[in-house]
Amino acid sequence: MTSIATLGSHCALQVLKGAKDEGLKTLLVCEKRRESLYRRFNFIDEFILVDSFVDVLDQKISSVLEQNNSILIPHGTLIAQMNTEQIESIKTPVFGNKMILKWEADRKLKEQLMHEAKLDVPKSIASPSEINTLVIAKRHGAAGGKGYFLATSEQEYNKKRDKLIEQGIINSDSDLYIQEYASGVLAYLQYFYSPLNEKLEFFGVDKRHESDIEALARIPAEVQMNSDKVPSFNVIANSPLVLRESLLDEVYSMGERFVEASKKLVSPGMNGPFCIEGVYDENATFKTFEFSARIVAGTNLYIDGSPYSTLLYDEPMSMGRRIAREVKLASEGNQLDKITT
Ligand code: ATP
Repeated sequence: MTSIATLGSHCALQVLKGAKDEGLKTLLVCEKRRESLYRRFNFIDEFILVDSFVDVLDQKISSVLEQNNSILIPHGTLIAQMNTEQIESIKTPVFGNKMILKWEADRKLKEQLMHEAKLDVPKSIASPSEINTLVIAKRHGAAGGKGYFLATSEQEYNKKRDKLIEQGIINSDSDLYIQEYASGVLAYLQYFYSPLNEKLEFFGVDKRHESDIEALARIPAEVQMNSDKVPSFNVIANSPLVLRESLLDEVYSMGERFVEASKKLVSPGMNGPFCIEGVYDENATFKTFEFSARIVAGTNLYIDGSPYSTLLYDEPMSMGRRIAREVKLASEGNQLDKITT
């Protein structure tokens, strides 16, 4: 019998609860320091205690996972704590396409995939000397918005960059990617693509609360002007959104174009959960500044189903449960090779 395993962080609770709801055995690769938190939940069948998440690469841990016929569900913590080579060398079958995780981590590849999908992406700026509008400077990889900053000129950029170097957050310009700032309503669009039935499902949408850029709006402009603090975009929480119904058609087309583009560039394509991230501008046009090629933490909102999953399923369907359902169907039909890499 196939089981579901994941790392103890990010969306582990949702993923394992969903697996249990589908009747699958659940395993948690858990750092010792977090064991007491996860012991509170009775839907976790087995704990594999480790000092650090990279231990998942160890032979001993892989063989426990192998004995359990486990499928590893990748999430943001896996991306944040392991480099591409480490992820690609994981022996346990990984749900979805582990090769596409490199395209998420590398901003240049990421841009290429978004352009291939014909998404409307804010322009990237090759050199600080070309800054002539409001831009955002972002670190590579899934830094979760920490240490990102805004600038409108090269001079302002240099000042803020130097501060981050001083604080040891970055080493040089090459640690930063500069992109035009897109203003509007932030929306993080959550999808699931099933390689078994070749269908795309739009699962939900959320908004992120980022500290402490959000706090700026609570401070009068004159106080802001006198502050030399560089606000950051560190994600703290998520809250739900529903979109105007007239936007849904384009939401589906963007997702479908993304799936098609990924099939072309990163075989076997974007299987399983993913997220297209950006803003709706004043014309309700979506500008995509980012994607995540795996489950996002914003899906934790919808453990009982979202306004959109409820339209597709007559039972509570979280993203975690949807993943487990795909695993179950693939396992029953001897098609696990279609849903893992
Ligand atoms: P995560 O891995 O959590 O998705 P990340 O480190 O890959 O984060 P981004 O999602 O690209 O970083 O950016 C973090 C935040 O910065 C976004 O949630 C958004 O608030 C803001 N942001 C990023 N790019 C832009 C942009 N071009 N215009 C406006 N805001 C942006």
